[in-house]
Amino acid sequence: MTGKIRIESPSQAKLNRNIRRMFWLVAALLTLLALNVLKISVFDAYSFITNPYNSRMALADNSVRRGRIIDAGGTVLAESAPAGDGYERRYPRGSTLAHAVGYSSFGRAGIESVYNFELQSVNMEFWSRLAQIATGAELLGNDVVLTADADFSDAAAKALGANKGAVVALDPSTGAVLAMASSGGLNPATIAEDWPELSASADSPLLNRATRGLYAPGSTFKLVTAAAAIENIEGWDTLSFVCEGEALLGGSRIICYDKTAHGAVTMADAFAVSCNTYFASVGHQMAPESVRRAAAGFMIGRPLGFALGESVSRFTLPDAASDSERTETAIGQGKTLATPLGMAVAAAAVANGGVVMKPYITDRIDLPGGGVKVKFYPETLGQAVSPGTAESLKALMVGCVENGTGAAAAVPGVSVAGKTGTAQNASGRDHSWFIGFAPADEPKTAIAVVIENAEPGARAAAVAGEILRWRAERSGD
Ligand SMILES: [Zn+2]
Repeated sequence: MTGKIRIESPSQAKLNRNIRRMFWLVAALLTLLALNVLKISVFDAYSFITNPYNSRMALADNSVRRGRIIDAGGTVLAESAPAGDGYERRYPRGSTLAHAVGYSSFGRAGIESVYNFELQSVNMEFWSRLAQIATGAELLGNDVVLTADADFSDAAAKALGANKGAVVALDPSTGAVLAMASSGGLNPATIAEDWPELSASADSPLLNRATRGLYAPGSTFKLVTAAAAIENIEGWDTLSFVCEGEALLGGSRIICYDKTAHGAVTMADAFAVSCNTYFASVGHQMAPESVRRAAAGFMIGRPLGFALGESVSRFTLPDAASDSERTETAIGQGKTLATPLGMAVAAAAVANGGVVMKPYITDRIDLPGGGVKVKFYPETLGQAVSPGTAESLKALMVGCVENGTGAAAAVPGVSVAGKTGTAQNASGRDHSWFIGFAPADEPKTAIAVVIENAEPGARAAAVAGEILRWRAERSGD
């Protein structure tokens, strides 16, 4: 044969065409598969890791060294150490800031839950995992750095002692949580042994009372009533009222503590000694809308947007509220309920010229190799009262600690502003409250303390005083 002429039979040509079609089909399927792997590892990773129903995460957890939780001063509160084939979670400071740190077994809570994705996810997930397969390098999660201080929180817990209750301290100018303590003996380091007792206890030790505990605010609510009066009643500062220890107002019998007759009192006197008949009378004089606006200004009855979760406080005072509802609400004995965090935010707003700052506890997310992945900045929630009203409220609060029911919160050499409260509790002894801030002239710490079923007397004020003294000695204020 002279020419190399290939002659395909009709059946050969059809076979080649089919092979080409098959090639493109397989190529298309492989491309789809690759795209899906990319989608799962990059775009679905968040919902995959954060989904609490994903039981396989327990296995996946061990391929990544979970990030650390660190306090504002660099103290490690949670870290993972190599153990066996994977890692085990350790809590070097035990019960310090326990309810905020949370835990990562028996379900998750606190930072361990809310920031699970950041702690567990590897930056540049897809490529890091490829590099790990190639080099055998360790995969590290991100670190979560808190605004709160471990030692300050321990001082708060120590002052709280064996009492049931909670403490929150905020930086009034930013809303950053500086310290947090909740009773109950939660310790993430020993949670495995403690779990049966913790989960069965009637005292709800797993509950973060600082953010989730709802209590009647009692007389600490007089801060709101005073704010409404200052902004709505002409000549409020000279308005006088004669307290006889009890009064019939709008059909309600209002009684001062121990039926003490406080005599002729001005707003400043009444605030200092926490005179119920005075504030019930003032509340009775004001339109419900005035008190409602003041409460909303201080975020009472409104969500604070706290990242670790919160119980939203409750407040209601409709225009059609009965006389007794108005007088009781004015002295914190209505249907109002607040958390320690919420009342700390209110005290902080007074310290901050009336501007309400959103409370937050996470300063930033750090990359394991150094560098900041996410930085959290202070946010404003609104203006509770004018700067002038805030100054007037501050003066009332300083009076309460200097010569009133808040005396136990005094700190030598530091001017402390505050308000006490005793909240009636249907199921036992009254709850004791203190809210305030220090130093009054240049506020660095706003605080709320609640003690459940407290002995009669200024328990919460004494606890607050001990904490503020610790703070003053530590910072040299
Ligand atoms: Zn009185």
